[in-house]
Amino acid sequence: MRSYLIAGNWKMHGRRDAVVELLAGLKTQLPAEPGADIAVFPPAIYIDLVSRELQGAPVAVGAQNVCDQSKDGAFTGEVSAEMLRDMGCRYVIVGHSERRELYGESSALVAQRAKAAIEAGLTPLVCVGENEAQRDAGNTLDVVGEQLTAVIKVLSTQQLGSIVVAYEPVWAIGTGKTATPAQAQEVHAFIRASLAKQSEEIAATVRIVYGGSVKAGSAGELFAQPDIDGGLVGGASLDAGEFSAICRAA
Ligand code: PGA
Repeated sequence: MRSYLIAGNWKMHGRRDAVVELLAGLKTQLPAEPGADIAVFPPAIYIDLVSRELQGAPVAVGAQNVCDQSKDGAFTGEVSAEMLRDMGCRYVIVGHSERRELYGESSALVAQRAKAAIEAGLTPLVCVGENEAQRDAGNTLDVVGEQLTAVIKVLSTQQLGSIVVAYEPVWAIGTGKTATPAQAQEVHAFIRASLAKQSEEIAATVRIVYGGSVKAGSAGELFAQPDIDGGLVGGASLDAGEFSAICRAA
């Protein structure tokens, strides 16, 4: 009953020409009626271009971050959820580990970003995940639990139903080390159980996607796990052939 979601996080990559070329590749290589929801997340400056290029294609557009403030105002450098909607976005990533680590975003701030996104009608992909030291110390579920709880605290039960959770172990991001299907499934099941404490019904419908060095070769086994509902793909989403193959694995 949950449809798969395959999300391509381009991070800070792309130029006008390269964006057009990548999208042309996707449009020719993706099936006309894919068996999964597909979305790409370009740098904010290219969202308008991507939205226009993808008109009529079975690929939605998302942003990589969003301001926690809903009302327009004196927030230099920020982009609001309503602005993202205005430019054709359906989704937004919040709390990516690069934002948390490199830009000091707290779980509380990430939660506010998720709330602002939902209030504007966007679907937030809330990223959670432990780093290597935390996994080695046996703290994976505590870390993921804390990150998730911050979001659960600020959302109503109904709002909780409109998020996607992305489990991305930091040690697997951009490293070529993918979590094993069993390692990923364990955390996904934990996330679903945590959501079920709020509402079993919602826990059964919220999509939980895996991220961290997903490639066409590893996607099938990961997506076959009962609580893995797709992927958040970084590096491999910059290659139209590879990303299309991952989409076909769902
Ligand atoms: P990766 O990135 O697929 O390059 O590991 C995933 C992500 O950071 O979302």
